[in-house]
Amino acid sequence: MLNIVLFGAPGAGKGTQAALLAEKRGLVHLSTGNLLRQEISSGTATGKIAQRLIDNGELVPDGMVIGLIREQLEKHANAGGFIFDGFPRTPEQAAALDLLMEEKGMSVSAMVALEVAVEELTDRLLKRGRESGRADDRSFDVIQTRINVYHRKTTPVIEYYRAQRKYHPVDGTGSVEDISERLYRYIIHL
Ligand code: ADP
Repeated sequence: MLNIVLFGAPGAGKGTQAALLAEKRGLVHLSTGNLLRQEISSGTATGKIAQRLIDNGELVPDGMVIGLIREQLEKHANAGGFIFDGFPRTPEQAAALDLLMEEKGMSVSAMVALEVAVEELTDRLLKRGRESGRADDRSFDVIQTRINVYHRKTTPVIEYYRAQRKYHPVDGTGSVEDISERLYRYIIHL
């Protein structure tokens, strides 16, 4: 069973690559960003809290995203494996994921980090804001906050997986196909 954490800054291409990889390897793609946006569009209590935080570029509380992931693992009890996109984003979430996986007799196979320079991230997010209309991609200030939050709160997740010898950085620049090929070449050996 293959369980991949796809890691990277906002705009690193996690969503695009996770979808491709999920299709190629028959994995269930779990994006906490997408799950939160579904909560928002369904108007749930979780969605209401999440909306304000997402619009400001802040993380939503750990307990909230851990709860969403727990639900999904239960919903897809017969999956052949998972690809986690945008989760874990704090060391606390990483520890919670290990516990959830252990409860189900599974484990994280590897954490693959897409590496992209910060100037390119901002350009990509602003472009996505123009094309997709995601509110948190339309404001330069919100994008800056998200990149700062990533550096402050999310990069310690790298050390978490490095300590488990599961951290694997991959060049996140070039064409979508090139990046996908790089990811695939690594994952095939797991
Ligand atoms: P991106 O990685 O491009 O910022 P996402 O769709 O992954 O886009 O996330 C959008 C927003 O959703 C984040 O800025 C954050 O507010 C919230 N979010 C998503 N995943 C998490 C998570 N694991 N923990 C906390 N907040 C999250």
